[in-house]
Amino acid sequence: MVKISMLKISAAHFDAVRRHGEETYPHECCGVLLGQMDGDRRVVTAVARCGNTRNDSPHNRYHIDPRELIRIQRQGRERGEDIVGFYHSHPDHPPRWSSTDLDEAHWIGCSYVITSVEKGKAAVTNSFELSGNDENDKKLADEKIEVT
Ligand SMILES: [Zn+2]
Repeated sequence: MVKISMLKISAAHFDAVRRHGEETYPHECCGVLLGQMDGDRRVVTAVARCGNTRNDSPHNRYHIDPRELIRIQRQGRERGEDIVGFYHSHPDHPPRWSSTDLDEAHWIGCSYVITSVEKGKAAVTNSFELSGNDENDKKLADEKIEVT
């Protein structure tokens, strides 16, 4: 049986993710989604933009500084929010995860949102759940985005 998980996000937060991808075009943007679990659903209550630290290849790679991630996690906890996902953009590429995206995804149970940005305009946005037991059998599975 295939269980489809879901990411619930407000239109304002959804737009913030997409606008970020337009602003950093032709480079990838990246950031963190904070919120709570509601059963199988991840509910986003805040979006934290991150700097893309991949100076070598920012058009098709992203990397979040671990110190920045710890700071975002700590600030979220002070507001009662956990990290529920991550997002990045694919400038002029489809919103499908790459093998590199899977290799670099380590937060099992989190959402990985990818927005394609075509010629500077945000196009399709998809979300994938990182599932599995550990690094060896992790996988990114399609999930629904419910924009509220
Ligand atoms: Zn990617």
